[in-house]
Amino acid sequence: MTFNWCHGPNCHTRETHSRVRGSGDNKVLRTIKIKQGRYNYYDRGNNQVSMWDYFCNQGCLMDYIREHLTSIVAIAPRREALETPIKVVKEKDTNWRGDLYTRTRITMVDNG
Ligand SMILES: [Zn+2]
Repeated sequence: MTFNWCHGPNCHTRETHSRVRGSGDNKVLRTIKIKQGRYNYYDRGNNQVSMWDYFCNQGCLMDYIREHLTSIVAIAPRREALETPIKVVKEKDTNWRGDLYTRTRITMVDNG
C-alpha cells in the first residue's frame, strides 16, 4: 500500500484526535497519512492521480494553494484569454402567462 503525507502546510497544527500520536507527556499532532486511491475520485486526470492522494481535506488543499500560489501558476501561466466559438440564437417563446417573449440561447459551435 502506498501512502503520502498530507501536503497541507498546517495539517500538523489542526487539533483533531486523528492527528494525536505519542504517549504520556510526549504527545504530538502529526501530519495526516493518506492511503493512495482511498476514494474513487471524480477528479482523476489521465495520469490517474487525485488531489485527494496528497491532501487530507479541502482546508489543507487551500492552505497549500495559498502558500504556493505564485509557484503553481508559474507552472502553466495564462498569458492571453481563451475563447470558445458560440452561436447566440434568439428564440420566441411564451412564458407561464402565455405572453410572447424573446429568449437568447448560447450554443456551442462544432468545429469538428
Ligand atoms: Zn492535511
